[in-house]
Amino acid sequence: MIYLDHAATGAVSPAALSAYLEVAQNHWGNPSSIHAFGYEAKRYLDKARKTVLEVLGLSRTHDCYFLSGASEANNLAIKGAAASFKSRGRKILYGAGEHPSVINSVLSLAKEGFEPASIPLIGGAPDPDALKLNKEGAILACLMAVNNETGAVSDLDAFYSFRLANPKCLLLIDATQAIGKLPLSYRQADLISFSGHKIGALKGSGALLVKKGLRLTPLIDGGEQESGVRAGTVNVAGAYCLAMALKESHSDLKSNLAKTQRLYDLLHQGLRAMDGLVKIHDHPRQSPYVICFSTLHHKASVIVEGLSNKGIMVSSVSACSSKKENTSYVLEAEGAGKEEAANPIRVSFGKGSSEEDVRGLLAALGQLFNEVKKI
Ligand code: PMP
Repeated sequence: MIYLDHAATGAVSPAALSAYLEVAQNHWGNPSSIHAFGYEAKRYLDKARKTVLEVLGLSRTHDCYFLSGASEANNLAIKGAAASFKSRGRKILYGAGEHPSVINSVLSLAKEGFEPASIPLIGGAPDPDALKLNKEGAILACLMAVNNETGAVSDLDAFYSFRLANPKCLLLIDATQAIGKLPLSYRQADLISFSGHKIGALKGSGALLVKKGLRLTPLIDGGEQESGVRAGTVNVAGAYCLAMALKESHSDLKSNLAKTQRLYDLLHQGLRAMDGLVKIHDHPRQSPYVICFSTLHHKASVIVEGLSNKGIMVSSVSACSSKKENTSYVLEAEGAGKEEAANPIRVSFGKGSSEEDVRGLLAALGQLFNEVKKI
């Protein structure tokens, strides 16, 4: 089996899993309880929070709230900020290639009188100049660090300059595909979202990091957990596992990045050699963890299925939208033609990916392009 769909999810890291078990089995109290078991659980929760902020260099500037994943983090950031800051204005900016948890959260606010404004992509990432053109009345800009379908990396410095010049417009960075992979700084973002399962922690864990002093309106009515921002008994073991996985991914971030760049280059070279059969969607700023290409003469979904039958897992558009339809709105937004957008294949690497995986994929693709009927 060759698994090359790490942008969808990955295996839990053994060290993070044993951290989970340690807390779940031995320190399982409710961190809100005022007795020794509660204090013990709270100690682990505090350590998890401190670790996340330290690893990302955000201890002085941000608070960390644990929740169920990036989808919840994006919902809370967007709906919570809109409710808290509606007196400032009504416009909410979002990149045309954002994850559905961002786009649908923003669009849902239109019913309440907010004005969603889509920012076009340039080089596969939200165009900083278009942000400036749309700044009037904007209270929030929702922009991703790395696109989950294409690996296009955003110009975060340009977003931070925009944020500085427009103090009424908060900045949410969806860092889900960047955290633990690329050495980016998030200090100047107001809100940062990510999921645990993309970095070796468990599904159902994630975090929203919030600039100190910024008060979001909570989505869930309930108790005062997570300083009242996210009610519900905290998943302490999940949060601790997330923190340990994040720490681990940062400890070997640079060497993994260099290794992954070699895999990206090898695959890129192999795909280029498949003369006229695929179109690679690469970008001026590119994460080597994701490579997206379109099949030009075959149905991508048939090739993806054929690969799966040969024991090779890749994705045709992202797992989040692949059930509905196969056309990639991200590729459409970055200017790909209709046929190309309808036939995308995404290959995404993880820590354990190897040259052998890439060679296996290329060989299987070569076979399938010969076997499968052309469109
Ligand atoms: N944002 C991005 C960029 C993502 O890639 C994903 C996961 N595909 C999410 C948000 C949502 O993460 P989750 O499904 O873990 O909530």
